[in-house]
Amino acid sequence: CGIVGVTGNDSAVSILLNGLQRLEYRGYDSAGIYVNDQNGEDYLVKEKGRIDDLRKEVSATANVHGTTGIGHTRWATHGEPSVANAHPQVSADGRFYLVHNGVIENFQDLKNDYLSDVEFTSQTDTEVIVQLVDRFVTKEGLDTLAAFRKTLSLLGHSSYGFLLMDKEDPDTLYVAKNKSPLLIGVGDGFNVVCSDSLAMLDQTKDFLELHDGEIVVVKPDEIKITNQAGEAVQRDTFHVDIDA
Ligand code: GLU
Repeated sequence: CGIVGVTGNDSAVSILLNGLQRLEYRGYDSAGIYVNDQNGEDYLVKEKGRIDDLRKEVSATANVHGTTGIGHTRWATHGEPSVANAHPQVSADGRFYLVHNGVIENFQDLKNDYLSDVEFTSQTDTEVIVQLVDRFVTKEGLDTLAAFRKTLSLLGHSSYGFLLMDKEDPDTLYVAKNKSPLLIGVGDGFNVVCSDSLAMLDQTKDFLELHDGEIVVVKPDEIKITNQAGEAVQRDTFHVDIDA
């Protein structure tokens, strides 16, 4: 339902939590964050209910900190509202983390065709995507971007805003969308991603629009947009002129 991300900022945890709070008005049944500190420490915290409940869980978990992370408020479509079904969803080996808005229409086919030997830990359509990326990286030797691209090519008419992280490349956000809103926000020495600019207006007023089918690699000092054919795309920022 709502997506936030940040890379290259020591306050990643509070930026994500505040961003999720600003998206509360859209409604949700559970929420979660994943953060990585670039020094081998990372944290996944998920909770049913309100963002305040997630905040409490974050406070109750020792030392949650990081510079890069992703967050999500979920409006369940596949699988009941629960901690296991909340996002970020994680690959079986704990390497990849994914938040998703929308619906993967052919997730059952993908599961049958590619992942019959994988033990799933949620009932979500989303988990199939993070397990597929992992499969293409660890079994087929693709790099993460190529694995993400290949996964996206299999999704037919599904709707999605995706934000993916790879523990082995922990300052990078992999972003893609189809029929679901997602924006990149340009910060001073850091960058953010959000499904609604409202979530990040306290961090930046300069945003980049994304088009369906594009893939974006976002690092603290770099935003690289490519189209479906893998060609670089140039895009100007737009300025959001309201205070929030
Ligand atoms: N289809 C996904 C799920 O049920 C994402 C729902 C959403 O957009 O929040 O987990």
